[in-house]
Amino acid sequence: MDKVDEQLTFRLKKTFKLYIRGALENALSELPTESNVLQTIINMQAALELIGKFFVLQRKGWKGIIVNKYHDKSEAELLSLIESGEIQTTPYWKNKEFFSNAIHLNVDDKVLLNKFQSHRNQVMHLGMSTSPNEILNESIWFMVRIINQLGWQDTLPTQDQYLANSLKSLLGNSLYQKLLKSSCYVDESIDRAYKMYPDDMKHCIQCSNESWALTHELNRVCFVCGYRGDQDAFGFADCPLCEAKGEVVFDALNIGHNEYIRGKCCSCREFVNVAKCKNCDYVSPHPQVCNLCV
Ligand SMILES: [Zn+2]
Ligand SMILES: [Zn+2]
Ligand SMILES: [Zn+2]
Repeated sequence: MDKVDEQLTFRLKKTFKLYIRGALENALSELPTESNVLQTIINMQAALELIGKFFVLQRKGWKGIIVNKYHDKSEAELLSLIESGEIQTTPYWKNKEFFSNAIHLNVDDKVLLNKFQSHRNQVMHLGMSTSPNEILNESIWFMVRIINQLGWQDTLPTQDQYLANSLKSLLGNSLYQKLLKSSCYVDESIDRAYKMYPDDMKHCIQCSNESWALTHELNRVCFVCGYRGDQDAFGFADCPLCEAKGEVVFDALNIGHNEYIRGKCCSCREFVNVAKCKNCDYVSPHPQVCNLCV
């Protein structure tokens, strides 16, 4: 990554996190005022615009988000223009077009996407006459349906990007707990996971919700907490304790090198030892004869 990419990455990541926390803190206030509604709209739309820009930056490099007339400048000139705030970035509609083609948006999602934009424009340019309280709930849908598809895990410290409760890292523990306990977030996320990936759903090893889907990109991603990893890293065996099928997660890359390893059942949350059969490679609880060879 060159220095211009690095500087833009740093700014977008940092500011996105501030806006998304601001949006959800306001949306989840116990006795919401007009100011909370207004702040929810502005912060949520700003969070989207920055994560959308970051999404383009990761795929196209800095030229994807800086307007053409700066493309011939030297690295030092660019860095100084960024520092002074004089650089011009591409307009939101352009980034929106790019990410809209890369993610899944149904008719309702598109309505929601346009609604936030038009509310924000109204607030910023005309002011509000009445306060659209439904926006508080809709901002949770907005998070589930749109923001969660834009890979915000990549804005986190490396250790929180994969195999971690990424959402807790993004929001901090107290806002994370509030979002899960006092909003429609969990139900909406599970619904969304099932709508997009109905065939192979597991309970999440991290947050226990039934929202850990196998995506088209062959990653396992939890639609609630953002826990994600390469599909090849995970193996699934049946649980001898609660009898759930394929819910004991084990380290698929290391099981072959050990007589047995410790797995964890995503359904009953107990630890279970599992071993790979020397004849047929099938993984069964240990000690126990192979489920396939018996
Ligand atoms: Zn989860
Ligand atoms: Zn179990
Ligand atoms: Zn066997």
